Amino acid sequence: MIYDNTRCTLCPRRCMANRVTGRGRCGAGNLIKIAAAMPHMWEEPCISGDKGSGVIFFSGCQLGCVFCQNRDISILNYGKEIDSERFAEICFELREKEVHNISLVSADQYLPYILPVLVSIKSTLGLPIVYNCSGYQSAETLSMLCGIADIYLPDIKFFSPELSRKYTCAEDYFEVASRAVSEMVRQTGKYRLDEKGIMKSGTLVRHLVIPECRKDSLEIVRWLSETFSPEDIILSVMSQYTPTGSVQAPARRLTSFEYESVCKAVREAGFRGYFQDISGADASYIPDFHLQGVTKG
Ligand code: SF4
Repeated sequence: MIYDNTRCTLCPRRCMANRVTGRGRCGAGNLIKIAAAMPHMWEEPCISGDKGSGVIFFSGCQLGCVFCQNRDISILNYGKEIDSERFAEICFELREKEVHNISLVSADQYLPYILPVLVSIKSTLGLPIVYNCSGYQSAETLSMLCGIADIYLPDIKFFSPELSRKYTCAEDYFEVASRAVSEMVRQTGKYRLDEKGIMKSGTLVRHLVIPECRKDSLEIVRWLSETFSPEDIILSVMSQYTPTGSVQAPARRLTSFEYESVCKAVREAGFRGYFQDISGADASYIPDFHLQGVTKG
């Protein structure tokens, strides 16, 4: 892999940042930066199981949705810089906690830094690597992950260019994400669960239903049903949208009508799906980031 950290073009933003002397649009500099590493029980049951998913939350994000519920780490770039040796240790420390997998959350901006570590520890680690991402991944990013990511956990956030421009300043979001998810499914093949229902490989697509955007959600379900068979992917429909106070984003929560109509479309398409309890859609879904598991000892 050839990566020029003085002119970064890793993600579709292609901001050409010099990450040796400064930071990119995503907030990333020239060291791995993470906000927390811990067993997480609140992912989908096939990911968290009964022991948790070993999540590593990376700082910064190239998409930067205006309603992001992890904005402290994604937009405000909270976290601690670590070297690759510490990153490897963190993966093994999570394994000692008997997690079902190691889940890399929003890691795109650090791939050239963490990939050599993942290649060298993957077989010793012996756990599936989950790549939890925004869906806004370049072909270059996905080619790096081929053979490393066992499970992809991408979002598909928007269908319409107007909405994605409004909420992320990325008019090409669906164009990029639809290609990316197709490539993820090509790499992983049909999803596979073990006898206890824990996911071992495959692609689980997440979609957060946003207030006032129900029709956009239905377009996404239509595209998924025309592109994939129910054996190809698992779908997770999320209701946890919480107003953040941003004037650009909807100021109310989702209604039952908005959420249930999207869930109904997913069921009718025949996908295996996870559906959140809309009454539980509050800030309790937002993890507390205080560098848990980042600092040694
Ligand atoms: S990963 Fe970050 S620095 Fe690199 S192109 Fe994307 S936004 Fe810019």
